[in-house]
Amino acid sequence: MEENIQCRFCGSKSIVKWSKRQTLNGIKQRYKCKECKRFFTLNDGFYHMRKSKELITSCLDLYFNGMSLRKIRSHVRQFTPQGVSHMSVWRWLIKYSKLIKSFTDNLEPQLSRVYHADEIFIKCKGEQNYYWDIVDARTRFLVATHYSTKRSSKEARKFFMKVKQPPIKLFTDKLPAYMKAYRKTWGKKKKSQDRECYTRLKADKDKRNNIIERVQGTIRERVKVMRGLKREYSAIAILDLLIVWYNYIRIHQGINTTPAQKSLIELKLGQNKWLSLINLSSSF
Ligand SMILES: [Zn+2]
Repeated sequence: MEENIQCRFCGSKSIVKWSKRQTLNGIKQRYKCKECKRFFTLNDGFYHMRKSKELITSCLDLYFNGMSLRKIRSHVRQFTPQGVSHMSVWRWLIKYSKLIKSFTDNLEPQLSRVYHADEIFIKCKGEQNYYWDIVDARTRFLVATHYSTKRSSKEARKFFMKVKQPPIKLFTDKLPAYMKAYRKTWGKKKKSQDRECYTRLKADKDKRNNIIERVQGTIRERVKVMRGLKREYSAIAILDLLIVWYNYIRIHQGINTTPAQKSLIELKLGQNKWLSLINLSSSF
C-alpha cells in the first residue's frame, strides 16, 4: 500500500512521511508532497469522524439487518457510555451511501445477463412510490434499481437505461410499461423479434419468477422497517446503500456467497466487509 501513496492535491508519487497525529480512529500519518509542498493525510473514510470505525460500521450493519434507527440507538447505549443518536446513524447512512456507490458503480460484474425485473411499492411522505429492481439470474446480482413516483413506461425506460450490460433474456410481469420501455431500449427491428429475448410472465404461476421473488422479499422486509421515508433524496441514498449491502455484504443463501463474489468481483473484503468497502471507496 505504502508505494501507491499519491498526493491528494496533485497526484504526485514523490512524497515523504511527516508527523503523526493521534485520532480516535488510530494514529494518522501525515505526508508532505515534494512536488506541490502541501501536507495531507490519507483518507480511509473515517477522517474527522467522532465515533470509532467499528461502531460506525456495526451501526450500518445493524440497520440493514433490520433494526430501526431508534433500536440501534438503545442497543449502542448498552455497550458504549457516550451512545449514539439516531440522527448520527442516519447521517452515516447517507454519507457512506454516496461514497461506496461511487466506487461500486465502476466495478464490472460478470453476469449471465438473464434478468428478472419487477417493482415494489414504497411509501414516501404518505404517497405510494415505486422501487424497480432488476436481478441477474445466475449470480443474483442486483443490476440496477430505480425509484419513482409513477409506474409509467417513461419511468420503466429510465430504469432500463441504468442497465449497463444489455440482457440476453429478460423476464418481467405483465405491466404494459415494461413492454414499451423494452422496445425503446433494446427492441429489435421488428416487434415480433423481441419475443426471443423478452418474456412476460404471469405473476404467480410461473416458477421462473422465484428468483426475483426471493430478492424482493429481502428488500421488502428491509424497506418495511424504514417505515415511511420522508424525503425522496434520502430515500434514494438509503436504497442505494441497500443495493451495496445486498450485493457485497450479505451472504445469499441460494448461492452461499455474496452476489458480488459470484459475479467474480474479487475485493477480498475480509471480516468487516463494511469497513473494507469504505476503505476501498475512499482510496479509489
Ligand atoms: Zn502534491
